[in-house]
Amino acid sequence: MSNKKYAIVLDDTKCIDCKACTLACKMENHVPTGLYNYRIWVAEKPVRGHFPNIKRSFQPSQCQQCDNPPCVHVCPTKASYQTEDGVVLVDHNKCILCKYCMTACPYDARYVNEEIKAIDKCTFCYHRLPEGREPACVETCPPKVRVFGDLNDPNSEVSKLLVEHETFNLKPEKGTKPKLYYIR
Ligand code: SF4
Ligand code: SF4
Ligand code: SF4
Repeated sequence: MSNKKYAIVLDDTKCIDCKACTLACKMENHVPTGLYNYRIWVAEKPVRGHFPNIKRSFQPSQCQQCDNPPCVHVCPTKASYQTEDGVVLVDHNKCILCKYCMTACPYDARYVNEEIKAIDKCTFCYHRLPEGREPACVETCPPKVRVFGDLNDPNSEVSKLLVEHETFNLKPEKGTKPKLYYIR
């Protein structure tokens, strides 16, 4: 039994909308090209101020790696599952493309990968973790918006950030217990 619990803490005030994270994810994870094929996205927050003194700001996001994941609960074939260290993954071989998980996810974090005929989404770059490597989006982001690490290690950077900063989750009212934390 793993005693790790992986999470990402984001400071989206640093985001410059360069979208390097989205490109890095596509390349690392062989995400097909196409408007609706993505594991990660950068949303624009409402513009602040009045013309010409306006301020644009951004909110990058991806699968929230929910601790209480509705996508896993509704999957009839157990293709969607949670690892011992809390990462929600999809076994592409078991996916029958019923799309129940897409409907259940409050974050629109899943897409249909037509190349492999299965649902796909962010994996926290799970294949990299045994090598001690960070997720591609974390590694690539020029201003270092994201910090990845183990919540169960009090000395990890994510644990320290959560102690030092007030944070919030997206759509907490859904009860999904996301493991993406945004610094206020
Ligand atoms: Fe924002 Fe970093 Fe993504 Fe660029 S790479 S869009 S700065 S999160
Ligand atoms: Fe599942 Fe969506 Fe939560 Fe990701 S964000 S674990 S796809 S419910
Ligand atoms: Fe993509 Fe990996 Fe980042 Fe998830 S953790 S958005 S799979 S690069």
